Amino acid sequence: MTNPLYDTLFGKHQGKTTPFLRLIDGTVITHDGFLQTAAQYAHLLNALGVTAGDRIAVQIAKSPQSLAVYCACVQAGIIFLPLNTAYTADEVAYFVENSGARVVLCDEGHASDLAPVAKSAGATLETLNGDGSGSFTTKAVDYPVAFETVAREADDLAAFLYTSGTTGRSKGAMLTQANLLSNAKTLAEEWRFTDQDVLLHALPIFHTHGLFVATNITLFAGGQMIFMPKFDLDQIVANLPAATTMMGVPTFYTRLLDDARFTKDLAQHMRLFVSGSAPLLAETHVSFEERTGHRILERYGMTETNMNTSNPYDGERRAGTVGFALPGVEVKITNADTGETLPQGEIGQIEVRGPNVFKGYWQMPEKTAEELREDGFFITGDLGQFDADGYIQIVGRNKDLIISGGYNIYPKEIELLLDEEPGVLESAVIGVPHPDFGETVVAVLVPQAGKDLDLEAIKASVGTSLARFKQPQRLIVLPELPRNTMGKVQKKALREEYGGLFT
Ligand code: ATP
Ligand code: MG
Repeated sequence: MTNPLYDTLFGKHQGKTTPFLRLIDGTVITHDGFLQTAAQYAHLLNALGVTAGDRIAVQIAKSPQSLAVYCACVQAGIIFLPLNTAYTADEVAYFVENSGARVVLCDEGHASDLAPVAKSAGATLETLNGDGSGSFTTKAVDYPVAFETVAREADDLAAFLYTSGTTGRSKGAMLTQANLLSNAKTLAEEWRFTDQDVLLHALPIFHTHGLFVATNITLFAGGQMIFMPKFDLDQIVANLPAATTMMGVPTFYTRLLDDARFTKDLAQHMRLFVSGSAPLLAETHVSFEERTGHRILERYGMTETNMNTSNPYDGERRAGTVGFALPGVEVKITNADTGETLPQGEIGQIEVRGPNVFKGYWQMPEKTAEELREDGFFITGDLGQFDADGYIQIVGRNKDLIISGGYNIYPKEIELLLDEEPGVLESAVIGVPHPDFGETVVAVLVPQAGKDLDLEAIKASVGTSLARFKQPQRLIVLPELPRNTMGKVQKKALREEYGGLFT
């Protein structure tokens, strides 16, 4: 095998006229058509001076063309670096400089903002728009539709994926061909993907969920994707009948449940719904089953490791848990101070090891040494525990742990109680600086539509179930929680907003 990732995901589909991408306007792109476009892009990238081991930074709308850029990079051995389309030019500047990208690919609308960024980094700027137009595709059409795949080793880097920046500055995770390949194979097998599957793809492709989990699995299995520019309820409802599987972040599922058109009939034929990237509330899991008869399969992963754990395909998919370690992946719960493995039922830091675990953070040797142990275990930054049956429950992030008067407080414990209160849709509990206790507890509550919250009653009610030091000192009502595009609650933003309440 000359290029394991290319050969296994892409190369094996060469010459096949089977559908790969179905677009919402009815266009069908075949496997071979897709690979031909990617081959032209690979030629163009070489012509732009980018060769194996170089990086290209892309901040472009989701489209078949943008997915073909990923394929071109794999075929040419170029390290692919996709960026969140919401990032500002200043933010992109950091990623471009940090990664040493040789080419910056962006939407025409951002070209004037990003031109100086590319220039100061010595990179070439090209454009690629959501509709497939732009300087990049215009130049690519003259190149041959076949490209000689560049040889790579399993251990060579395939992508730099930057973390979402939920807890601090985004870090560039160096992912090898083997990291991506091992996970694609494991997940396709665990979730029983075949060439008969049609995945409803409404996720962004700058994040591990939409890019690697959804796309690589489909490619591995030889199936198709209904490739949507973004999550749009009307489009989901219209296209669900043609799909067999769907992957989403929890907000996809809550939004579907809020829509009366999402009925049992509409979902009946589906084989699998997968959720991840943020915690799926047990309540959503239950409502979804009541509505559709399907149990959402929740899994857990991150930029640095792809997927680590999954609820079982066969067997009980347990609400509020992320299931078991995937085959080949080890998960342990450890004491953050000593690193010792904790007994079942105790909360500690989640550590993972396996072929899916990344090589380290790009140009951040200290950060890498802090989080990636010499024995290969990666300290995820998440806290969790094993339940009595071995299912893993995530209780939150280490950085969201509240330490008040020397006591550890897990926000999740309080959030679960608050969510049960009358009229509460969801909640986020944070620690804010306090002169006496170091930190104290503040709860942000989102009311259900049209409901008023009786804050005194809520305070009194949770007061009966919680030790005094855990009781929220302040309840704040907001119409919604701040979330990023992956549906992750931005607790950092809440702490910034309410950090001065007691000081
Ligand atoms: P940063 O590392 O920059 O702070 P981030 O951790 O949010 O950002 P990602 O790699 O996109 O960046 O997200 C991984 C995190 O998402 C996990 O560490 C975990 O906290 C959360 N996560 C993923 N899946 C689940 C899940 N099923 N349940 C709960 N949390 C999840
Ligand atoms: Mg992280």
